[in-house]
Amino acid sequence: MDIRLIPTANPKEKPKDENNLSFGKVFTDYMFMVEYTEGIGWHDARIQPYGPLSIDPASPVLHYSQEIFEGLKAYRRADGGLQMFRPLENAKRMNDSADRMCMPPLDPEFQVEAMCRLVKLEQDWVPHQPGTSLYLRPTMIADGAELGVHPAHHFLYFIICSPSGSYYKNGMAPVKIHIEDRYVRAVKGGTGAAKTGGNYSASLKAAFEAEKQGYDQVLWLDGRENKYVEEVGAMNMVFVLDGKLVTAPTGGSILPGITRKSVLQLAQDMGIAVEERPIAVEELFQAHQDGRLTEAFGTGTAAVISPVGLLEYHGRTMELAEGKIGPIAQKLYDTLVGIQRGDLPDPYGWVLPLT
Ligand SMILES: *Cc1c(COP(=O)(O)O)cnc(C)c1O
Repeated sequence: MDIRLIPTANPKEKPKDENNLSFGKVFTDYMFMVEYTEGIGWHDARIQPYGPLSIDPASPVLHYSQEIFEGLKAYRRADGGLQMFRPLENAKRMNDSADRMCMPPLDPEFQVEAMCRLVKLEQDWVPHQPGTSLYLRPTMIADGAELGVHPAHHFLYFIICSPSGSYYKNGMAPVKIHIEDRYVRAVKGGTGAAKTGGNYSASLKAAFEAEKQGYDQVLWLDGRENKYVEEVGAMNMVFVLDGKLVTAPTGGSILPGITRKSVLQLAQDMGIAVEERPIAVEELFQAHQDGRLTEAFGTGTAAVISPVGLLEYHGRTMELAEGKIGPIAQKLYDTLVGIQRGDLPDPYGWVLPLT
């Protein structure tokens, strides 16, 4: 499929201060767009000026949350060139989410081609400072006028881009996490493994209440027994237990993170044992008491690795790594960020150079 370019008449001014970029507030000049019509398939791929969408108020996305998305970054190397990190994995996961939400798949190679074309066109928007990047948000929605609750007949897939600042502007401050057992994020058989909008709106209330109590994030438990730790808002959780990396299995209720997968691979290759298994909250408290739980961190595209300084459950707390980033988290962070930004060699073929 050809991708046509509709030029913009009004290029925007780029952010002047790269040290003060926030997340997801400024968008570039262009967006990618392609449409799906039942009986025809995907058609009309184009890169067009960034701007509001006009969709029918009866669109299924507005009533039944038929929506999926992805999140990934383009990085500027020290030599000024650009590269992306495992974009094909995001494209494939988009299709897995599409399948769960009765939406049509889009050829993963074509998705990556669209990302590359868009980033190359917008290359002057990719910031230079360490820790900064151009964030890409591929999204698919069901539009078209149809209030019946059944799979839709028309869809839009689009990609928008936002220059984003360093996640760790003030150094790598460990986060405080509340372990949640009143609200549930996902259960087996639900939509927890799909990156779909409804999961996030359903989790806002717990996050908001935890924030009022002074916590940065919520750690969700399994929805069936309220006993096993699953994941954080937009990050998978990894614990260092007896010197091994232990993380919840991707059994349908957690999002299979690409950062998670990459971190587990790096750890194994560093000679650190990895276990994917259910982890009970009580096991964590016991291990902490015995001095066997030494670190915990979240993994996700935004922060790469986010160290946890404190975990709270029913008023009981565990402090970890003396409120600092632990040595294993630091080593994994340095290695992964080094590969992503092209400062370290990439023996895995994870990086896709664009220029
Ligand atoms: C996106 C996301 C992650 C992290 O996935 P990455 O591919 O590592 O960015 C983890 N959990 C949830 C719920 C997410 O939405």
